[in-house]
Amino acid sequence: MAEITWELFEKQVEACRLCPLCARIRHKVPGQGDRSAPLMLIGEGPGQVEDEEGLAFVGPAGQLLTRMLGAIHLPRERVYICNIVKCRPPQNRVPTPEEAEACRIHLRMQTYLVRPKVILLLGSTAARNILGPDLRITRDRGKWTERKGVWLMPTFHPSALLRDESKKVQAWEDMQRLRDKLRELGLYPDLLNS
Ligand code: URA
Repeated sequence: MAEITWELFEKQVEACRLCPLCARIRHKVPGQGDRSAPLMLIGEGPGQVEDEEGLAFVGPAGQLLTRMLGAIHLPRERVYICNIVKCRPPQNRVPTPEEAEACRIHLRMQTYLVRPKVILLLGSTAARNILGPDLRITRDRGKWTERKGVWLMPTFHPSALLRDESKKVQAWEDMQRLRDKLRELGLYPDLLNS
């Protein structure tokens, strides 16, 4: 069996035709950031700006995400950011279960390569795909689950915060929980030991 490498991952995503989404995109958006980051962030799928630039979370939601990370002293270059699907769904609709399932091979490979200790799930699509379809984001956000030594927490998607400011209070609580978990695990000691 071929060794799993970043090169193989990149080639595999570029060549992927496992679902119909790639027919209507400008760029694939595999994900980016620190490839050995202890913290991985998973969103839903690329939006318009991401599709134009080939980078995850660089549009308005991404700018808010950068500020949220900054509020707990994490520069976004120090985390790894990706999405459930690597191609933009038309009109930013939610990816279908079939599309998410087809793309799972890429996310699995990425998670294997990064080996994060903590995963923040941004919004209900990411959270349901990873933690199960019964998850309710308003009920389950901010709760930690441990799987094979990896800690996972769902929180609101930054786009939801842009639509509804009142969610920001809870989102801030979640970011503090995230910071506390990273500290508890001794991760990012140069940034979080204060
Ligand atoms: N929303 C997402 O879920 N991912 C992005 O990359 C951008 C917006």
